[in-house]
Amino acid sequence: MALVHESEHLDELNTLGPEDLIEWAYREHGDRAGIITSFQNTGCVMIDMAHRVAPQMRVMTVDTLRLPDETYAFMDAVEKRYGIRIERFQPDPERVARMIEQHGEYLFFDSKPKQEYCCRIRKVEPNQRALETVDVWITGLRRDQSDARKQVDKASVVTQGEHRIIKLAPLVDWTEEQVRTYLADNGVPYNPLYDMGYTSIGCKICTTPTKPWEDKRAGRWRWFNQGGEGTSKECGIHLGGSGI
Ligand code: SF4
Repeated sequence: MALVHESEHLDELNTLGPEDLIEWAYREHGDRAGIITSFQNTGCVMIDMAHRVAPQMRVMTVDTLRLPDETYAFMDAVEKRYGIRIERFQPDPERVARMIEQHGEYLFFDSKPKQEYCCRIRKVEPNQRALETVDVWITGLRRDQSDARKQVDKASVVTQGEHRIIKLAPLVDWTEEQVRTYLADNGVPYNPLYDMGYTSIGCKICTTPTKPWEDKRAGRWRWFNQGGEGTSKECGIHLGGSGI
């Protein structure tokens, strides 16, 4: 995936507020627009906004088949609350079986390349399949989530092969406090893992709670922090063309 440097529409989109951006995406692109979320707090805010301004907006997720039980239960609760059907993009079962046969289910402990391989099979490839179905990709990226995300644009264009996709991050400049205030003021349900010290929600084992002074994504793949091996906290979905 590559980042496309062009200003068409983007300057204008970058000035819009979150609800206007979500409304614009559905009005202009209908079913070719969608929120792709892992049910972190920003995703919950955007689903709630879409429920008001674009109730037919697609909601999609990458189900790695290794998510915490709390996240699966929460997804069911979100479907009931908003009367929506979440589209779940899962890894190719044959690719997963071959990976486990060759490297074991817990290959991500072995090395950074094997962790990235697992992320590619379980996250990046299903995400690519999801992206094939949209022209507008709405994400929950925020600049305060990590150093690597400080430069994220609210609106950018990425390509997947020949396919151009407008990538929106409606809450890019929101703080954690703004997100929490929105959730509380609007009675929006959130993933119970946040009350257990998590500040980023991903696969079980690979994601752990964080301390107050740490990056919000510091809880990812902690075992690499000590080893001096790669310390990237990105799984690949938002690398190489995401504007970061
Ligand atoms: S976060 Fe862990 S289990 Fe999930 S896809 Fe990446 S390496 Fe695999």
